[in-house]
Amino acid sequence: MRCAIVGSGLAALAGYATLRRGGIRPEEIVVFGTHEDPLEVWRERAASIRQQRMRSESDGHLAAAAFPGLALREAARRGNVLALAHTAASTYHPRVEDFVAHGRRVVERSGWSKSFVGRNVASVRAVDGGFELDGDGPFAHVLLATGHPGLERLAGAVHAYEPHDYPSTVAVVGAGMAAATEWLNALAAGSEVVSVRRRPPLRRPLNVPRSFFTKRGLASFHGLGPAARSAMLLDLTQPSYPTGRAWDAPIEAAMREGRFRVEPDVNGYPVIAATGFKRGYRNDPLLADLTAAHEVETHGQWIVLAPDSTVPALTDDRRTLSIAGVAGQWAFPASDTIAGAKYAARAFLRHACRSR
Ligand SMILES: Cc1cc2nc3c(=O)[nH]c(=O)nc-3n(C[C@H](O)[C@H](O)[C@H](O)COP(=O)(O)OP(=O)(O)OC[C@H]3O[C@@H](n4cnc5c(N)ncnc54)[C@H](O)[C@@H]3O)c2cc1C
Repeated sequence: MRCAIVGSGLAALAGYATLRRGGIRPEEIVVFGTHEDPLEVWRERAASIRQQRMRSESDGHLAAAAFPGLALREAARRGNVLALAHTAASTYHPRVEDFVAHGRRVVERSGWSKSFVGRNVASVRAVDGGFELDGDGPFAHVLLATGHPGLERLAGAVHAYEPHDYPSTVAVVGAGMAAATEWLNALAAGSEVVSVRRRPPLRRPLNVPRSFFTKRGLASFHGLGPAARSAMLLDLTQPSYPTGRAWDAPIEAAMREGRFRVEPDVNGYPVIAATGFKRGYRNDPLLADLTAAHEVETHGQWIVLAPDSTVPALTDDRRTLSIAGVAGQWAFPASDTIAGAKYAARAFLRHACRSR
């Protein structure tokens, strides 16, 4: 077995599809994960906050080849040329149902289920010839795609990314994208909303500016020293949501009707915790174990990675240890997006092919 992927979410699927397109056969790859359906975790979170449209655009798809994007696929399927016009203006956001249907096709065509083994991996150890995973192996090339290390919960509250309904009055704790989405969801459901936040909401077009998706923007990010880089990541990952009437108008109307107000605490109302995820590699048991067992460089809450998302001390001409998903932010600030998953996946494939 030459390649192993640990994890079973969108980043693992993007990694798998990329390896397959690079000519690596299902028999040469094992995927150790907790969910046989790699869309399941994301779908439940998106459904819980009633997400209808993707935050990403046409290129936010899971197929290994960049072309065609989701807009062209929609145009071809539904005869909807408007999708292409929206893409040109960067205003095309695919329907969640179309994204999920596309993801299912990637699962089927890539042969994912032939490589999938249900297992929660507890340890990665560097050995001669690669890495052992819970003592199995060695695997020459390992991609860790374990996702977020759990929801940031509040006692007695339902989390925004778990299935829930909206009571007649609800306190929503948080001030980022999930909180703003929940304010609108609850108002649309007829509820009265009490917004509880530590600071006024930060309004930004995207969590990570577009420049960080370009070669030049990334090169300047990679040129930053550790302190400046972690300060920038902290800033980029502050909770925020976009500007615009679609967000503001329903809140303004609800404030006039007395159905939306800001209060310092939850005052006994039922609570939705729009508090996101736990942060940092120390909260991920596998990554915490890896850094303790090997001399893996870290800075603050991040594992220090090479620009191509590999762990420098454990990667050479014969073996690769890469990190995709949110834990890969040191290499790609928007690592917790589909674009980020593909960034890590493509570099991983280059390493896996190099030692063939
Ligand atoms: C509501 C919501 C909407 C989003 N919308 C978009 C969007 O429109 N566009 C976009 O680009 N991005 C979007 N994102 C961001 C991003 O695409 C997701 O966070 C994505 O799901 C991350 O995938 P992942 O595989 O890294 O992590 P996860 O989805 O968390 O999956 C990780 C998987 O690995 C498993 N696992 C963890 N540890 C182990 C272990 N030790 N052994 C085996 N398996 C393990 C987990 O159980 C899980 O199955 C959205 C995120 C959310 C929450």
